[in-house]
Amino acid sequence: MPDPNGFLRYERRLPARRPVAVRITDWREVYPPAGEELIREQATRCMDCGIPFCHDGCPLGNRIPDWNDLVRTGSWDAAVESLHATNNFPEFTGRLCPAPCEAACVLGLGGQQPVTIKQVEVEIADAAVARGGLTPRPVPASTGRSVAVVGSGPAGLAAAQQLARAGHAVTVYERDDAIGGLLRYGIPDFKLEKQHIDRRLAQLAAEGVQLRTGVNVGVDVTAEELRARHDAVLLACGALQGRDTPETPGRPLRGVHQAMTHLVAANRVVAAGDGRPAPAVLPDGTPIDAAGKHVVIIGGGDTAADCLGVAHRQGAAGVHQLDLYPEPPHGRDAERDPWPTWPWVLRNYPAHEEGGERVFAVAVQEFVDDGTGQVRGVRIAEVTVERRDGRRIVTALPGSERELPADLVLLAIGFEGTEEQPLLAQFGVTRNARGAVDARPDWQTEADGVFVAGDMHRGASLIVWAIAEGRAAAAAIHSYLGGVGDLPAPVDPARQPLAAR
Ligand SMILES: Cc1cc2nc3c(=O)[nH]c(=O)nc-3n(C[C@H](O)[C@H](O)[C@H](O)COP(=O)(O)OP(=O)(O)OC[C@H]3O[C@@H](n4cnc5c(N)ncnc54)[C@H](O)[C@@H]3O)c2cc1C
Ligand code: SF4
Repeated sequence: MPDPNGFLRYERRLPARRPVAVRITDWREVYPPAGEELIREQATRCMDCGIPFCHDGCPLGNRIPDWNDLVRTGSWDAAVESLHATNNFPEFTGRLCPAPCEAACVLGLGGQQPVTIKQVEVEIADAAVARGGLTPRPVPASTGRSVAVVGSGPAGLAAAQQLARAGHAVTVYERDDAIGGLLRYGIPDFKLEKQHIDRRLAQLAAEGVQLRTGVNVGVDVTAEELRARHDAVLLACGALQGRDTPETPGRPLRGVHQAMTHLVAANRVVAAGDGRPAPAVLPDGTPIDAAGKHVVIIGGGDTAADCLGVAHRQGAAGVHQLDLYPEPPHGRDAERDPWPTWPWVLRNYPAHEEGGERVFAVAVQEFVDDGTGQVRGVRIAEVTVERRDGRRIVTALPGSERELPADLVLLAIGFEGTEEQPLLAQFGVTRNARGAVDARPDWQTEADGVFVAGDMHRGASLIVWAIAEGRAAAAAIHSYLGGVGDLPAPVDPARQPLAAR
């Protein structure tokens, strides 16, 4: 029986982040472990609501009040079991999820303080490792059926684990030189150290999942060959087509890059190095390091915040982060985003307390040439943004233009769906108007026996949605292959995040 008064006795508390002056000298994670006393206290704040609205915020259907109570009583093994019943990779979501469950927690009503659900989650996930590792589940007798998973992000890996545990032979094909999708070379180590991925991969391998890197499906192996080798195919290739701004004067200048180009180069240095700083370069040797540079990051989301944290660790001279939209409110606007929906509020990531200046309601008018073809600055104007007939209209305020210094400009303005690549035509699959690949109610694409999940289906989204879709697509594939019993399917292809209607 949970403690009904815990939230009256304890305030919401998170572990203190590592000091800024220390953490920007390395790539280690920002948060230290919370410690058992703090986390049991915080789990005690959960009321085990009759109707736990936290469940509605989370597409995985995590049993949040159950594992909160198990942590409260120190029943760690049972908490580990309960958490893994719905989530293959809680060490990723516990570290990285923006936590729509917390936005939906009943304790958040009226601007109060929700349970630190995500922190409890990560502590349980880490307890699993501390208490003997991520024990592989014994693989049942083989079904004799085989599945190809294309793409090794959280969607592909969650599906692979579910299918292998149901007895199917699973091979994951990844074109990169390492498994993990955006978790590997997109998201920096200060948010997710890579040993967490490697531990899971050891578990997947021990459960029989074949992990093949350096295989670009559609180029190194054709769709036809893959279909001949396997009984079903899951496409989980992500939504990695970065939005660009080709119409802005000066876009071709040296020093103007897609954010992902910068992040991947920086993360590769960290992956290859010994923890000490080393300059990031592109595969052709072009430097893309922020050391000593004035950096301008265009965009206001996760990707932009990751570029900010990387730029400071690389030793940037100064950073501006530009956002087209006005500064969001600091608290929930109950009329616009009533509880328990996900609110539009100012989000301060740990990277924001490390420095840099955020500039809201501005748009870049020109990337300015230093006379040699290298960017010297960005000319910006203050703008208003409105929606007319579903279209975004951006209007510059006359006389508001100014120039910011910039030796390195990073475009973090979103993604336009999955990449146009040979694999699509070979499988007979098309991109829709959003650049995503549609799924039928049973997760099959236009092509029979070819399924889709994660960002490739949903458009650029979140890890928690990728895992949920990977699990659900695995359940559909299991049924397509005539597997015995049902696998859990937490979402269907039409499911949307909780929103005000
Ligand atoms: C910089 C950045 C930071 C982010 N931070 C967060 C965060 O903090 N929290 C959060 O919840 N979400 C975050 N996200 C979003 C999250 O990473 C994605 O939603 C999630 O990784 C999607 O998983 P996925 O498995 O669908 O695809 P991905 O992780 O994109 O993986 C797709 C994989 O498919 C591979 N692939 C593509 N085509 C082929 C092919 N032809 N053959 C073989 N392999 C192929 C790719 O190389 C890639 O490895 C962030 C995204 C970015 C870009
Ligand atoms: S809504 Fe909050 S308080 Fe209620 S069960 Fe979920 S986590 Fe606990």
